Amino acid sequence: MTRYVYRFGGGASDGEAGNKNLLGGKGANLAEMASIGLPVPPGFTIATTACALYDELGEDIDTVIATQVADGIAHLEKVTGKRFGEPGSGAPLLVSVRSGARVSMPGMMDTVLNLGLNPWTVEALADTSGDERFAWDSYRRFIQMYADVVLGVDHGLFEEALEIAKEDKGVHLDTELEAIDLERLAERYRAIVLEETGKQFPDDALEQLWGAIGAVFGSWQSDRAKTYRRINNIPGDWGTAVNVQAMVFGNMGDTSATGVAFTRDPSNGERAYYGEYLINAQGEDVVAGIRTPQYLTRAAREKAGARAASMEETMPVVFAELARVFDLLERHYRDMQDIEFTVERGQLWMLQTRSGKRTAKASLRIAVDMANEGLITQDEAILRIDPAQLDQLLHPTLDPTAERRVIAKGLPASPGAACGKAVFDADTAEAWKQAGEKVILVRVETSPEDIHGMHAAEGILTARGGMTSHAAVVARGMGRPCVSGAGSLAIDYKARSLRVGGHEVAQGTIITIDGTTGEVMLGEVPTVQPELVGDFGTLMAWADTKRRLKVRTNAETPLDCRTAREFGAEGIGLCRTEHMFFDAERIMNVRRMILAEDEAGRRAALADLLPAQRGDFAEIFRIMAGLPVTIRLLDPPLHEFLPHTDEEIAEVAEAAGVALETLKRRVGELHEFNPMLGHRGCRLGITYPEIYEMQARAIFEAALEVDEAPIPEVMVPLVATRAELAIIRALIEQTAEAVFAERGKRVDYLVGTMIELPRACLAAGEIAKEAAFFSFGTNDLTQTALGVSRDDAGRFLTTYVEKGIFARDPFVSLDVEGVGELIAIAAERGTLVKPDLKLGICGEHGGDPASIAFCEKVGLDYVSASPYRVPIARLAAAQAALRK
Ligand code: ADP
Ligand code: MG
Ligand code: MG
Repeated sequence: MTRYVYRFGGGASDGEAGNKNLLGGKGANLAEMASIGLPVPPGFTIATTACALYDELGEDIDTVIATQVADGIAHLEKVTGKRFGEPGSGAPLLVSVRSGARVSMPGMMDTVLNLGLNPWTVEALADTSGDERFAWDSYRRFIQMYADVVLGVDHGLFEEALEIAKEDKGVHLDTELEAIDLERLAERYRAIVLEETGKQFPDDALEQLWGAIGAVFGSWQSDRAKTYRRINNIPGDWGTAVNVQAMVFGNMGDTSATGVAFTRDPSNGERAYYGEYLINAQGEDVVAGIRTPQYLTRAAREKAGARAASMEETMPVVFAELARVFDLLERHYRDMQDIEFTVERGQLWMLQTRSGKRTAKASLRIAVDMANEGLITQDEAILRIDPAQLDQLLHPTLDPTAERRVIAKGLPASPGAACGKAVFDADTAEAWKQAGEKVILVRVETSPEDIHGMHAAEGILTARGGMTSHAAVVARGMGRPCVSGAGSLAIDYKARSLRVGGHEVAQGTIITIDGTTGEVMLGEVPTVQPELVGDFGTLMAWADTKRRLKVRTNAETPLDCRTAREFGAEGIGLCRTEHMFFDAERIMNVRRMILAEDEAGRRAALADLLPAQRGDFAEIFRIMAGLPVTIRLLDPPLHEFLPHTDEEIAEVAEAAGVALETLKRRVGELHEFNPMLGHRGCRLGITYPEIYEMQARAIFEAALEVDEAPIPEVMVPLVATRAELAIIRALIEQTAEAVFAERGKRVDYLVGTMIELPRACLAAGEIAKEAAFFSFGTNDLTQTALGVSRDDAGRFLTTYVEKGIFARDPFVSLDVEGVGELIAIAAERGTLVKPDLKLGICGEHGGDPASIAFCEKVGLDYVSASPYRVPIARLAAAQAALRK
């Protein structure tokens, strides 16, 4: 019999604690905490493998797993001495039903608490606990949660009913309602369920349980979950586990509480307990923003200037116990933990632990600190940082000297500055983003339904919620700046605007938020470049000692070159010369060159382009002092430089002094049906050698001009055959010799090729005879190997990724199986002929960690990435070397 149910707690431990693939993250960690002796309420986990079973059988899953679930329940009854769903006979066993995939996924079903309550067990609960209020509070919470997440009844209806109950009673807080009020509320809730679903709320505990189990498994296929998986590259076949766990109660009066905590500060990494708790509350009250949570530690409370007592002050004994658990868990998992706990009448219970989400800044600080504390090694510290997350640190922050029109202040929930147009719902955020706008998503509070909008937004602003609210946690995980709980904002969803202190911010108004200070500002505030020192510098220095791959950059403007150098680039892997031609002052000469009817005409125009091109190269060589610089000769089809609309054509004709008709004819002649496979790349150099000759001359003259001699690597694009490269190489060498003779000096240089056609990969042995280096142009190589045009792929690639045909977008992350194989073949055949052939990659993939790991594996010499991705590549290269 296949095992699907694994018990934990109360002395049982069936699962291999820590087996996340089987038990899901939550279940694995519950089992692990129980097995190291921490106080965990007993429970059982229905394994992730049952999720596929549910996909297949639906509700009939019980035919396979009912006996195992019954054994699980028996385990809970035995450990707790309570009975599930039985009225009268002592305390009823109540359980929570909690989803839990391998990694925590905000899109999954929300936890249902207090399951097992019905009109009879609620009486029993009141009797045995001696607290009637608590019993009815638990029951009304249960109905609301179950109806919402399992039965799909709009939770707003219950909130409304709760508001009315409070109004009737003339109170503000739910804690001020008495037993009788809550009993009536429960009745009202049951009536709502009947009205909305046409059915009685289920009273049978087992029926409740199976409903919840089905809902958890079902939620794996929800749209929300699918979106989240798509954004985070999580495979659809992992499945979720279901955890059924005996309830403990944080809502049993003033010696009870519930809370969430991080063992270190998740926004800056500081070594200080960080968290919030609420007295006499249950479950997610803390994050739901219903009451304002209180700080965990006295230090945090004082720092925030808050009055409400911290847990350290109100429950010193339990707090000390909690602090001991924090330290123990950190040592056990050797990482910062995100913890959920409940205190029931003075007794601490651990309900969850996992590695805490954190900002990039915190990530670095924690990794460096833990390595220095001896908790982890330097290698582990390097491996702990998600290279993609570094991106957050590399972008500008608000200029401290700039004027700020601060209109509100909230909590600094996720650091960094963001500026954009205010929008008030997730769909608009997504639509505007697609239209090329930058947006700030403004919500009263966020929920999992807003994920896609949060992803689309530059930053997130909420009026409600603490530092551990949904908005804060998700924003930190996504690396979006976030200001939460800016209570002074009056947000009106209908009017799509917010009011604050006499200002009205309508949808579309530009605002700036500073997630490091919590400030909300009107308009755009200027930014400054980050300084790459401190923990960042330390960790990158450690990483640099571990990597074998060199890291270069793709850059052609002086600004990009400088930025890349600051970020640690060790040369240029791709300098695209065509960008230099688009400059307003040069394009006319470029057009003259293209329009010329003969070689003499082209040479005249090229001669006028030479000084500008030489100047560009000299400047780049100076910035890259002494480092290798790969310059790609002209690549795009010529018509890209020509005017297209009638107006433009007329303008150009006039400026260039050619007849309108001549120009039109020439534009027509240059038209191509499929330019990507047309007259471009080295085909230009073959047909118009004078173009490449001019470029080569500009390169060598510039190289002789600068003091610290660079190492020019002249790169010929789109080579398919050895003969092409042989012809162009001869041209380049002749030009070099001519320049050296004129100037009476020489520089070292290399001639090589960009490998971007499948034929070139296969014929690499032949081509290598003419080449000093290969640089894999994986953008075009992906297009040509897959037969997919990148510009048209948008229409179907998302579907392909969703259906699992490609694990990831092959233009973002290298298609290792196909394109990777071509690279491996080319590298092998090339180096067989020429052992010292230099190998690099210069496509977008050069900045993608997974692709970099592949480059390490096949033994390339360097990767080249856009400037902001250079640090990412440095770290990814170190990780690839360490993982090898
Ligand atoms: P999430 O995946 O959203 O974190 P959880 O399954 O952790 O959801 O449940 C949310 C909260 O519900 C927990 O933080 C805890 O406060 C409460 N909870 C879950 N199970 C129990 C339980 N057995 N007893 C008491 N509270 C529980
Ligand atoms: Mg949740
Ligand atoms: Mg949780």
